[in-house]
Amino acid sequence: MHIRKQRLLTPGPTPLYPGALQAMMASDIHHRTEDFRRVYQAALRDLKEVLGTSHDVLVFCSSGTGAMEAAVSNLFSRGEKVICCSAGKFGERWVEIARAFGLETVVLEAEYGRAVSVERVAEALAAHPDARGVFVQASETSTGVAHDVRGMGEVVARTEAIFVVDAITGIGTMPLDIDGWGLDVVVGGSQKAFMIPPGLSFITLSPKAWQRAETANLPHYYFDLKKEKKNAEKGESSWTPSTALLLALGAALNYIKQIGMDKLIENAQLLARATREAVRELGLELFAQDTPAASVTAVKAPAGWDSGLIVKEFRNRFGAIIANGQGVMRGKIFRIAHLGYFDFADIFAIIAGLEIILNAHGFPVRYGTGVAAAQKVYAEAAFAREAALA
Ligand SMILES: *Cc1c(COP(=O)(O)O)cnc(C)c1O
Repeated sequence: MHIRKQRLLTPGPTPLYPGALQAMMASDIHHRTEDFRRVYQAALRDLKEVLGTSHDVLVFCSSGTGAMEAAVSNLFSRGEKVICCSAGKFGERWVEIARAFGLETVVLEAEYGRAVSVERVAEALAAHPDARGVFVQASETSTGVAHDVRGMGEVVARTEAIFVVDAITGIGTMPLDIDGWGLDVVVGGSQKAFMIPPGLSFITLSPKAWQRAETANLPHYYFDLKKEKKNAEKGESSWTPSTALLLALGAALNYIKQIGMDKLIENAQLLARATREAVRELGLELFAQDTPAASVTAVKAPAGWDSGLIVKEFRNRFGAIIANGQGVMRGKIFRIAHLGYFDFADIFAIIAGLEIILNAHGFPVRYGTGVAAAQKVYAEAAFAREAALA
């Protein structure tokens, strides 16, 4: 038995930023103290800065779905109609949450691997002028497809509806002009591009969204946006927060500010391109039929293969955890993540490992073919930058 380092290569949880892990060790701190208020306030301020928004940003101690639920339960009233763009498992989650709270859903479904177009959203808004909200994923993590939230934001802004964007894997992987594009509500999660463990969710709210909170009558208790905002202004969270995760968040946000949000996004986009070029060069097919997301690349398993074999082989041979497909996509695709704390060396290793696994099971590829494609993307980007600086 040789050394096999455990590597998290899934699109959430993602690899952890070491500085954030170290910061968590200082969590023997009480949350109703000046020391903690400073940590909390700095985190809220830095979140706002890296998200580039003037809107309020609030934090919940839940996984991302908690903030998704908060958007529904705080901003809508019994029986209201909403439009849900559903292009995968997370789009289906919007539909499920909305229905759980008794909302009437108009579902714009896209086949797995495709995106819902801006035109369909515009048509649905025209056909349903009483729609009070439009829900979408910026990046649909289950299929590796991105939505045109800028285009959608423009059409939603002309209506009474609010635009609610699950950007849980969109943040840090694609540009999001929250204020400029009319993204009324944006939801994020800690275990994605924020490079820290699961357990925190983020939500931003525009003035148009806040107006809704004044009249909305759906029941909620733990996830109370108005209460959370009032407490946040005092530097506190409504309930006992995860002090460990907030310390981690503070460290991760410092790191993100240091490298710059635009560079974090560019990093994900470059790694995504390198991954796509590599798998194509190996003769594999991408699952995305529309704009591929930069958060995760979904790849079809070779014909006749169960993608679970690739997942299992990554774990057994290289200690690496990659993602299978979700739901009916399970066994058909595997997903390579590149959001947050991933670098080119990770991608080179993943592709090299993939070449070995393909060869081991009767899908012959020439060693180095995929790696070379990824190296080429690195070389073009890095050498161009170095030449520009010289
Ligand atoms: C990870 C993820 C979520 C949130 O899932 P949780 O398990 O609640 O954190 C929601 N939407 C998308 C697109 C995601 O990638």
